Amino acid sequence: MKYLSLTKEEAAELYEKELHTYKKYQAEKLALDMSRGKPCKEQLDMTSGIFDALSSKSDFILENGMDARNYGGLDGIPELRRLFGQLFDVNEFKVLLGDNSSLSLMYTAVQQAMQFGISGEPAWNKLPVIKFICLTPGYDRHFAICEHFGIDMISVPFKSDGNVDMDIVEGLVESDSTIKGIWCVPKYSNPTGVTYNDDTVIRFAKMKAAARDFRIFWDNAYAVHNIYGDTPLKNIMAECEAAGNPDRVYMFASTSKITFSGAGVSVMISSEKNLKEFKSHLQFETIGPNKVVQLAHFKYLKSVENIYKIMSKHAEIIRPKFDMVFKILETEFENGDIIKWTKPVGGYFISVDILKGSAKEVVDLAAKAGVKFTGAGATYPLKNDDRDRNIRLAPTYPPVQELEEAMEVFVSAVKLSALGVLKG
Ligand code: PLP
Repeated sequence: MKYLSLTKEEAAELYEKELHTYKKYQAEKLALDMSRGKPCKEQLDMTSGIFDALSSKSDFILENGMDARNYGGLDGIPELRRLFGQLFDVNEFKVLLGDNSSLSLMYTAVQQAMQFGISGEPAWNKLPVIKFICLTPGYDRHFAICEHFGIDMISVPFKSDGNVDMDIVEGLVESDSTIKGIWCVPKYSNPTGVTYNDDTVIRFAKMKAAARDFRIFWDNAYAVHNIYGDTPLKNIMAECEAAGNPDRVYMFASTSKITFSGAGVSVMISSEKNLKEFKSHLQFETIGPNKVVQLAHFKYLKSVENIYKIMSKHAEIIRPKFDMVFKILETEFENGDIIKWTKPVGGYFISVDILKGSAKEVVDLAAKAGVKFTGAGATYPLKNDDRDRNIRLAPTYPPVQELEEAMEVFVSAVKLSALGVLKG
């Protein structure tokens, strides 16, 4: 049905019916959570044997002879740096491994720039104003880092075809030396699922930057997280080197959604010059990361080929959940009518846009019927979606049955809210 073609009278009639359905859901006293993109229990269980390979004392000796149980090794263990180097097609000396959170590496990179500056440029916190470009809708925790440090955020919406608006990005970065960074999730972006095309990556690498200490925060969190296929992403490190901007990118990734979110390994990839500077501060914060966890990961992940095998098992677990969400949306709505949804090839999210001014109401209606969604506005800097229309759906965590119930409530909330508008 095309809701947008209804007359006011038809909408009013349907509204009463939908209100009845919604109240039925409300009476069920559900308590469901679809708010965060977490792996589910079956995904975590897949990896539960990861520490079995570390059972005897000789298992802890690294290829360079170091004992993983002891202090040292600020860059992370060499065998796993090499494996991530192979995965991301960069030399292993451009790879630094951290503990379980890549977000923590991103925070540290911003904090170091704020306090000490980058590459001999003034510390960011000594400047009257600094800004980051935030592609929207985007990942709330990136924006929260900027907010925490008092960095101004310039929201640049994705184009209607899902691609980054490089004309705007280039215009801003070339002309404004107070712009010091941009947050990017280049593959299966959170939440739209878009993968940047080759032209976008090349333009990021080549564009002129007014600020000498401008950095791209390339959060490759979903690099191998295929669900329906594999959309290739160009190697930005190689493009930046070819364009004569070898220090432009800080790339991040982690095994949070490959092994354990709470006990994985994080990765930072950048030029050797950048990593040297990063470590010159990091060395005061730690003597080294958790190498036992890194070694367990090396023994479990084994090879690039095996990482893709592991990821296809994850896909088998979460694909039915994405299928379920798409099936319900496709049965209940026409894409582009009162709701427009993305169809990502991988990643953890589906992004929906509903009628302007409705997202808060829909999230609130769902909450009152016992289903929690990511807060409306969360995908925008300062939680301010000025059109109040974007909602992020995170299908991975709940069991399929719960997901179905949650989506039925969501559908009812979307219809109720839209019919409320259409009946006038
Ligand atoms: N980056 C993006 C785009 C994410 O969606 C997430 C988690 O959802 C993270 C980073 C968090 O990564 P980590 O667990 O490595 O801190």
